[in-house]
Amino acid sequence: MDSSVKNQIRTIVGKEHCSDRKEDLFLYSYDAMNRRYLPDMVAHPSSAQEISRLINLANEKLFAIVPRGAGTGLTGGSLAVDGGLVITTSRMNRILEIDPENQTAWVEAGVFNGDLQSAAAAHGLFFPPDPASMDFSTLGGNAAENAGGARAVKYGVTRDYVMALEVVMPTGEIVHTGSAAIKSVTGYDLTRLIVGSEGTLGVITRLCLKLIPIPEAVGTMLAAFPEINTAAKAVAMIMSSRVTPSTLEFMDRTAVECVKEYLQDDIPPDVAALLLIEVDGSPSVVEADSKVLEKKCLEAGARYVQSARESEEREALWTARRSLSPAIMKIRPLKINEDVAVPRMKIPDLITGIEELARKHRLTIVNFGHAGDGNVHVNFLLDPEDKEEVSRADHCVKELFQLVIALGGTLSGEHGIGIAKAPYLDIELESSATDVMKKIKHALDPNNILNPHKTFDYDKTSLERELSPHNG
Ligand SMILES: Cc1cc2nc3c(=O)[nH]c(=O)nc-3n(C[C@H](O)[C@H](O)[C@H](O)COP(=O)(O)OP(=O)(O)OC[C@H]3O[C@@H](n4cnc5c(N)ncnc54)[C@H](O)[C@@H]3O)c2cc1C
Repeated sequence: MDSSVKNQIRTIVGKEHCSDRKEDLFLYSYDAMNRRYLPDMVAHPSSAQEISRLINLANEKLFAIVPRGAGTGLTGGSLAVDGGLVITTSRMNRILEIDPENQTAWVEAGVFNGDLQSAAAAHGLFFPPDPASMDFSTLGGNAAENAGGARAVKYGVTRDYVMALEVVMPTGEIVHTGSAAIKSVTGYDLTRLIVGSEGTLGVITRLCLKLIPIPEAVGTMLAAFPEINTAAKAVAMIMSSRVTPSTLEFMDRTAVECVKEYLQDDIPPDVAALLLIEVDGSPSVVEADSKVLEKKCLEAGARYVQSARESEEREALWTARRSLSPAIMKIRPLKINEDVAVPRMKIPDLITGIEELARKHRLTIVNFGHAGDGNVHVNFLLDPEDKEEVSRADHCVKELFQLVIALGGTLSGEHGIGIAKAPYLDIELESSATDVMKKIKHALDPNNILNPHKTFDYDKTSLERELSPHNG
């Protein structure tokens, strides 16, 4: 990117809101996947109009624009693999309106999910999508990744709560999609096209989100199992019962060990897996549903089922659960995290298959995740210096994906494809489906300006531009 282009970017956003200093660029060179690519410049625009002008410039001068929320993505989606300009939504962080009567909120894309939760709670409402990163990830990023969370098993994912969007298209037009009316079938559903498009089809600048009333009561239980397989069996039994839990989270023993300091009670040594289960509704429904699910767990072989007695105990359980992703890196310094999902009755087959793969490839694999919606986070814990182990893990990841597809599942339940899973896309998608996606991308972004070389546009040569600890 030459200096005249950089000067034009400075003119659009203001020189105090952009930088090409190397120490600043480093801050935007990585996300939670922990690979590093240096952009040429980073800018923090304050409006859709500024973003539109930046995108027009990118089309004229042919450089990449990479949207970025808080950089908590786990698949490298916000990394500038081809250099270019990273644009953040950090200055677009206002909650514009909460409408308690219509139960909707208008927000700018850079608002943190947790901040909306607090603002909605003041009106007795909540926004159901609750990624474990909710306190530090943006609603724009949540929509771009179609993020899920623990409550997805009952309430669905981000896509189900985005009613309307303001989006800057890859050719610079500012477009309004959807409607704040509950029902709207006017035209193609552009909102759903943009949600989950991982920043490749448009930059989301504003969102209209559906809120719902906070349930009157919540019951929280921890069920402990002597084997992983009995926990998996309990998941299948719970999900085929008449009660839909609002949360059904799974952690294996190694995962539990990593967060045990947050738990108030010791977990006995013969416990191999835990299920964190919640039900919500009126107090009488919560009481009745809790009994049904407790019975299911015991029938499946639970060693014990314990209810959270106080709200502090519930908070401690949730702190433990939300801390899992970073905490397991205590075991080994390199983590490859796959978030595969299968039809939920296939969870026992998936867990058995993962155990076989871990044995076959002699790898440490830690499993936790949103078992109730079939979404298991499979974490390969590795020593990056042990090249032979890393190579075994590469083979194992491929076999994991093949297993998941054979079980009728999908490569990613919520983290997206980005660059992390792009090399494996053809295990799941037929070329005819990828071709349709490529046509959509080309029609909307003829110059391939917006977040290039992600998902089906993966370019192996980008690996050469990756910074290693030695060339950074
Ligand atoms: C500890 C931890 C726990 C997590 N738990 C969960 C979980 O439970 N569920 C889950 O789904 N994910 C989880 N994640 C992953 C991550 O937090 C989500 O993917 C989140 O939605 C990313 O939001 P972000 O603001 O950080 O986006 P970024 O990481 O900055 O960007 C993610 C992608 O969205 C695009 N993007 C960002 N903003 C916009 C915008 N305004 N317009 C267009 N495109 C945009 C980027 O280009 C990129 O492709 C977790 C991550 C961590 C580190």
